[in-house]
Amino acid sequence: MKNFINHVLDFVYPRICVSCEDPLTFNEKHLCLGCLMTLPKTQSHLTETESIERKFWGKINVQNTYSFLRFTKKGKVQNILHALKYKNKPELAEYLGKMYGNELKNVNFNEKIDLLIGIPLHKEKLKMRGYNQADHIAKGLSVSLGVPYSEDVMVRNTFTMSQTKTKSRFNRFKNIEGVFGINDLEAVKDNRIALVDDVLTTGSTLEVAGEVLIEAGCKELYIITLAAAV
Ligand SMILES: [Zn+2]
Repeated sequence: MKNFINHVLDFVYPRICVSCEDPLTFNEKHLCLGCLMTLPKTQSHLTETESIERKFWGKINVQNTYSFLRFTKKGKVQNILHALKYKNKPELAEYLGKMYGNELKNVNFNEKIDLLIGIPLHKEKLKMRGYNQADHIAKGLSVSLGVPYSEDVMVRNTFTMSQTKTKSRFNRFKNIEGVFGINDLEAVKDNRIALVDDVLTTGSTLEVAGEVLIEAGCKELYIITLAAAV
């Protein structure tokens, strides 16, 4: 009966693939089979992917950076990222996090970290969006990896991070000083942490948040994103 109702609902309100926007069949979830099979994976957990790793070279001490998908403007991955951020789809973030978590578990990544932390949103922004997509990605990763995640170890203090036009790293750091704070030092100190976000572009937000974790005594830092602009 439930199946029948779902079939009827699919007919009346067709669910669409978040990537290509074709209608989904009854068994498909979020992505159609075609898009699922052709996701542009970076495989950065299997091979050295310099274009991703070098984003943090000479900036912060990151053990490794892993990005699930290759992001290109106007490409399919952009549709996915847009949907999980703006179309009220926390479950999509969790679904993709789980999928990537399974791949990372295949290379025993679960043995390398103690805690997953999603890049926090400011609470006003959280109220507007209703959820923090990074937390939901971390939650999905956590399910597959069997490693805990936390939504409240780290906080975001300012509403937006001021982006300066200046090239000076010193000035940039001055402007973003105090953007992130740590609520629970015990959870960070001497632990191996993976910082999670939806997309890696310039990496500046991740860099600042990572620096805060390192200053708070995080033993090893990893960065995981669903997509990377590479
Ligand atoms: Zn599709």
